[in-house]
Amino acid sequence: MKKISLTTSIEVYASKDELPEKFEHLLDEAKKGLTKSYAPYSEFRVSAAVLLANGEILTGANQENAAYSMCLCAERVALSAASSEFPEVQIEAIAITVENKNNPVVAPAAPCGACRQVLSETEDRFNNKIKVILQGESGEIYLLNTAKDLLPLFFDGTFL
Ligand SMILES: [Zn+2]
Repeated sequence: MKKISLTTSIEVYASKDELPEKFEHLLDEAKKGLTKSYAPYSEFRVSAAVLLANGEILTGANQENAAYSMCLCAERVALSAASSEFPEVQIEAIAITVENKNNPVVAPAAPCGACRQVLSETEDRFNNKIKVILQGESGEIYLLNTAKDLLPLFFDGTFL
């Protein structure tokens, strides 16, 4: 028997002012995008902003549905918008933020497993790492150098 250790390194910033300017701006855009959330059931609003290699920023917000399994995550809405509008352009970074009026989120909220899988595939598709910026409504900000840090032992096309 042998053991494998998997480690993840996360840069932690006390405030957005400490972030590199383009990521501070991206996080601002994600926060603005919270107003586009449709979350009448959970009131848990999520917004994601993606920065493309051509400088474009696209946002996506979560879209709930009374048939819960139809709900769409903000991250995948944003990634799909980017892929639809600029199918040949790499994604450099994604900023994700949340708002919950019933239970304010003060910790960085991370993407769900499904969104991690789609982020991983997007990295493979364009052969580049996507930086991930996470912040709750307030509090520390996490910056990860690759989406794959969120998904160790990821599944990809090489298995097919
Ligand atoms: Zn998700």
